Amino acid sequence: MKSTLKTIKHFKEWVEKELDIEKPAKVQLHKSRKSLKTYADYSPSEGIVRTYVSERSLGDCLRSIAHELVHHKQNEEGRIKSNYDIELEDEANAIAGRLIRKYANTHPESNVYDTVIKHGKNNK
Ligand SMILES: [Zn+2]
Repeated sequence: MKSTLKTIKHFKEWVEKELDIEKPAKVQLHKSRKSLKTYADYSPSEGIVRTYVSERSLGDCLRSIAHELVHHKQNEEGRIKSNYDIELEDEANAIAGRLIRKYANTHPESNVYDTVIKHGKNNK
């Protein structure tokens, strides 16, 4: 699972470059969904992305991370005014979809679509 964690870290840094993010976000990977209402969320006040990773495909996790990093970019631009903004959501979904496709095409060795993160095996 070490290589999966490496891919996640690499992807995060790659997305931050693609989006021209100034201040890197903190990304936390959670094995339990206890603290998460959804698969992932972003805290604008802390600049923290939280993602649930167990039993999900790597592609799903990376798409979540990309989506939340788009929110981080929107936050840097001062565009997040409320908890839920349909326009910012649609933008995050669209850009995340584009990013994951570009990453999969340019980094075939990462097996984005063929890796499943198994429960308990992604301990550091
Ligand atoms: Zn969102």
